[in-house]
Amino acid sequence: MLCLGIEGTAHTVGVGIVDESCRVLANEIDMVRPQAGGIHPREAANHHADAVVPLLRKALDAAHVDPSAVDVVAFSQGPGLGPCLRTVATAARALALALDRPLIGVNHCVAHIEIGRGTTPCEDPVLLYVSGGNTQVIAFARGRYRVFGETLDIGIGNLLDKFARECGLPFPGGPVLETLAAAGSALLPLPYSVKGMDVAFSGILTAALALRRAGRTLEDLAFSIQEIAFAMLTEVTERAMAHIGKDEVLLGGGVARNRRLQGMVARMAQDRGARLFVPPGDLCIDNGAMIAWTGLLMHRAGVTMRLEETAVDQRFRTDEVEVTWR
Ligand code: AMP
Ligand code: MG
Repeated sequence: MLCLGIEGTAHTVGVGIVDESCRVLANEIDMVRPQAGGIHPREAANHHADAVVPLLRKALDAAHVDPSAVDVVAFSQGPGLGPCLRTVATAARALALALDRPLIGVNHCVAHIEIGRGTTPCEDPVLLYVSGGNTQVIAFARGRYRVFGETLDIGIGNLLDKFARECGLPFPGGPVLETLAAAGSALLPLPYSVKGMDVAFSGILTAALALRRAGRTLEDLAFSIQEIAFAMLTEVTERAMAHIGKDEVLLGGGVARNRRLQGMVARMAQDRGARLFVPPGDLCIDNGAMIAWTGLLMHRAGVTMRLEETAVDQRFRTDEVEVTWR
């Protein structure tokens, strides 16, 4: 059985094709990279509208399959930017209707956890999901993926991207700051903001920009932002693991590519006799393969959606999804 998944919640549009054993046959993405300023939802949606058909062709070519070999079509139903979600949902509906195949809307955050479970040996992890717009600590409990902690303001990736942008660095800022941080050494005072199981990052952004104006180097600032923000994330992840008694931790989202974050979480896991799992980088960032895999799991579990049920949901919560496939 093959499932084709289309991702398009924010800056990235992607098409992935996976089979029943979570083998990724294709995973093509195209990311909007604004020249100046942040991501404008309408402009990103226009980008996705232009990119999605070429990406579909590219993915089918890469997988060496004919469109008729696709058994199920899945798409990212939310959460995300409205215009982007609607654009990709329209493409997915058109494809499913043209091929006469079932269509399944997938929760984007749940897809990050399922692709990690599908491509690493972990079984029942706490997921630290760290991406541009989202930052959540998620685990399975009583039939649903539940959010145990999350950001109270901006996502961790958003903190990195915004700081980089204000300092004239290119988008996405995370990888650029990771390189700069490796040359930094002074730990500058930034607000460490953990509230129970939740975190907040906008204070770090404000403080870091003020320190930049006061003449601190980008290297030291990148280093300090990483040390403080990643320590906060590691702390709430550990608290969630202790609270629900799980001994696996999985990273997901684009920021999971960061070596320093991986190192900190690995150390925490080691100290408590737990294990860390990190999916390959191209499955950490937003991608179509994770949507395809989750759609396939849902389809196999008997989930069906009428066309009317495929409306997008900008605020689709992780714990709204009834997980019938595990
Ligand atoms: P996503 O929203 O999951 O597609 O991830 C995109 C986010 O990941 C952006 O905010 C990037 O800046 C961030 N990112 C990608 N690679 C890295 C890295 N090596 N270190 C930190 N952040 C990263
Ligand atoms: Mg994501």
